[in-house]
Amino acid sequence: MRRFKYGALLAAFALLLTGCAGGAESQTDSVRYADKYIDLHLHLDGSVTVDIAKKLAEMQGIALPADEKELESMFTVPADCTDLNDFLACFDKPLSLMQTPEGLSESVYLVAENIRSQGVIYAEIRYAPQLHTSNGMTQEDAIKAALDGLKRTQLKANLILCCMRGEGNDAANDETVELAKKYLVEDGGVVAIDIAGAEALYPTENYEALFAKASEYGIPFTIHAGEADGPQSVADAIRFGANRIGHGVRIFEDPEVAELVKEKGVTLEMCPTSNRQTHAVDDMTKYPFTDYLSQGIRVTLNTDDMGIEQTTLADEFRYMEKNFALTPEQEKLILGNAVDAAFTSETVKKELREQLGL
Ligand SMILES: [Zn+2]
Repeated sequence: MRRFKYGALLAAFALLLTGCAGGAESQTDSVRYADKYIDLHLHLDGSVTVDIAKKLAEMQGIALPADEKELESMFTVPADCTDLNDFLACFDKPLSLMQTPEGLSESVYLVAENIRSQGVIYAEIRYAPQLHTSNGMTQEDAIKAALDGLKRTQLKANLILCCMRGEGNDAANDETVELAKKYLVEDGGVVAIDIAGAEALYPTENYEALFAKASEYGIPFTIHAGEADGPQSVADAIRFGANRIGHGVRIFEDPEVAELVKEKGVTLEMCPTSNRQTHAVDDMTKYPFTDYLSQGIRVTLNTDDMGIEQTTLADEFRYMEKNFALTPEQEKLILGNAVDAAFTSETVKKELREQLGL
């Protein structure tokens, strides 16, 4: 009887210990490094949350459904999203709220303040000026409006102007590059360009001339590659001179390209939740982020489209901790990679390193 009692006591104690250790939150709380973050890859339109959408609609007199569930489905990725093309269709609604200077400026301000409240201390917000011209704004108006929003936020942030993959928009892409040249600053404004859109339909190799011009103008750039298309897309982007790649998640499919990325010190802007939702990686248990990290590839963690994906950068870190046992040392390394690759001045990089304890 005594033995039984003693055994039961031991079992209860063991259960208590297991319970403590088994709680993912309580376990990771004590071992995580990151509580301040840097987001190098987030799209303005994709970062509009339902709350932000409501504010943008109200200020512009645009009617939105009153039903919360309907609103949520309007501004978030559907559960049956099958690929990047499906995913890209989710941007129509937030974009429709950002077709006036007021709407665009306020969206930059609200998105920046929202991520600041979630622990982000530096962000590069990207958007395509050519997607904000359906109500009379020019691309230049769209740049001025975004700069106005940027000026009002307390978040340290810069803008990346996206060109778009597609048909019939070569002139619009050229205009974006010319405007990037005109507005380019080292800090506190337009700092780089990118190309976004349907990578599998409009391959990276088609855009060589565009990035040759950016190089000629001395405009820094990142390129979405190796997301919906394979490693060749990344190899092309590197050949154009990109030292940052949006995603690049599929380089594991070609070890030579993975080696090239490592050898050139190219930084990958990886976004786990986005990759899961667009099915860039089919089996998320094999998500290659920590493999790349241990191979010495310069990876960073980002959100991509935190609004429509219903995530935050803190969530992305917690996801990697929980599913891939991301360590504090690895988190430190990732944040350091993000500072090194940021399109910003050395002065800001120094401040960020201090804030992050790097
Ligand atoms: Zn992206």
